Amino acid sequence: MVIIANELLELAIATASCTSCGLADSRSQVVFGIGSPKAQVMIVGEAPGFNEDQAGEPFVGAAGHLLDRLLEEIEIDRSAVYLTNVIKCRAPNDRVPQAEEVDACKGYLLEQMKLIEPKVVVALGGLVSQLLLKSILPISQLRGQSYDWWRGIVVIPTHSLAEGLAGGPDVVDAMQADFVALRAVVDRLISSI
Ligand code: URA
Repeated sequence: MVIIANELLELAIATASCTSCGLADSRSQVVFGIGSPKAQVMIVGEAPGFNEDQAGEPFVGAAGHLLDRLLEEIEIDRSAVYLTNVIKCRAPNDRVPQAEEVDACKGYLLEQMKLIEPKVVVALGGLVSQLLLKSILPISQLRGQSYDWWRGIVVIPTHSLAEGLAGGPDVVDAMQADFVALRAVVDRLISSI
């Protein structure tokens, strides 16, 4: 485990100076990810926003509060999961990441997954879910079920936190249902969390 922690640290250091796409010019800092290198649950968002770009940590501010609430409701603490994004740098004005930015960045996420070896990945939003599941279906059709994915990892797609914050009670209800499904997968696959 010490070896994996070191390798994750080395990856974080390499990522911190990445200039593979234009977002390197507008970011304050790279937001690599946070959590235990042995976390069995990984939560993947789209990209850092203003608060994350300032803090250097994913899911802070209102989005972070919603995530914490969804996790608390299924009795999982934020500290038990690994949090990251597909895109490691904030886009100007928080615009949707472009395809070439996703292509430039997605290798870091795959390396994080290879090192951490989570059993379950929650994919927040359409961009993340479509990328992982190689699908063009909208998140409204992808969510509501879990998928056996790569290296035995179960993927649970759900809405993005931005959709949860902007979309009203129906969207939050759907996210709560998806997090209950996460709890069931955790109870099935993971002995303690
Ligand atoms: N904060 C993040 O770090 N990622 C998201 O996808 C949303 C908010």
